[in-house]
Amino acid sequence: MEVLTNVIERASSFVLSLELWDLLDILVIAYLVYRLLLLVRRTNTSRLLKGVLVVIIALWLSAGRLRALNFLLNYIVEWGVVALLVLFQPEIRRVLEQVGSSSLPFLQFFSKPRVDRQTIEQAISQTVSACGDMSKSRTGALIVFERHNQLDEMLRSGTKLDAEVSSELLKNIFFVKAPMHDGAVIVREGRVLGAGCMLPLSRNVNLSRDLGMRHRAGIGMSENSDAVVVLVSEETGSISVAVGGMLKRHLMTETLEQLLRNELLPQPEEDEGEKRTGLKALLGKEKKDGGKADE
Ligand code: ATP
Ligand code: MG
Repeated sequence: MEVLTNVIERASSFVLSLELWDLLDILVIAYLVYRLLLLVRRTNTSRLLKGVLVVIIALWLSAGRLRALNFLLNYIVEWGVVALLVLFQPEIRRVLEQVGSSSLPFLQFFSKPRVDRQTIEQAISQTVSACGDMSKSRTGALIVFERHNQLDEMLRSGTKLDAEVSSELLKNIFFVKAPMHDGAVIVREGRVLGAGCMLPLSRNVNLSRDLGMRHRAGIGMSENSDAVVVLVSEETGSISVAVGGMLKRHLMTETLEQLLRNELLPQPEEDEGEKRTGLKALLGKEKKDGGKADE
């Protein structure tokens, strides 16, 4: 009982001595640990993490007693850090890219201004027209519209392009005998930036069995980012859209257009929100309207 009161006393005096900065410190560390655990889960590296933990515990236990083992483990840890940095270079790059493209308002300040509405509207109508035609001709297609999360890693896996979105271009890319028909097209700010891109496959085990690789790749992309993914099935001609890991299937072209407009065009209330939060977006908008922007 005495021990318990002692522990409670110590804990309460510790809590009372906490300052605002300590709380912030704890929150930041908790967030970093959370991100690390997410990364470990996403990259399937839990066995590697266990190995690292075993080495660290062995190092701690051997300190001062098993000197030769401790010496050896120290070396392993020193070189291990370099090895981990090399091994996880793609993941580290992705995390840094995600931080850079984060939707935190103060980070958005550094991001590029939005493209004008007309370019996006044009891209949407051209995509809808291409999807209608590809649906009729049973041509498989996978088109990714990037939003806040940058898809540089996927772009690197494909062929680089920089072209206006046009129905002809999309149909040409996905034409079954064309060299770039495999993989996905990535659209950023109303422009086709890449074709033949590899997307991450969905890990959702509950997906319908009749969904093949194209649809799993489309859903996987929408699970891993805030992108909007449009799919045309080669087998059935059916048009689908994946957002946030959800797939809406068997869409009419009119519904596809409405859905894309809802997802990709800034909504009136979002505009209002941006006026309050996104200073850079506001500057971009003023520029577009011909006004002078103070940068
Ligand atoms: P469909 O209804 O068009 O047949 P599906 O969902 O049944 O689509 P598959 O028949 O397996 O899918 O489609 C294979 C095609 O999907 C490949 O030729 C390739 O173009 C595309 N694909 C497969 N995996 C990926 C990936 N990871 N990233 C991008 N595209 C992919
Ligand atoms: Mg198939």
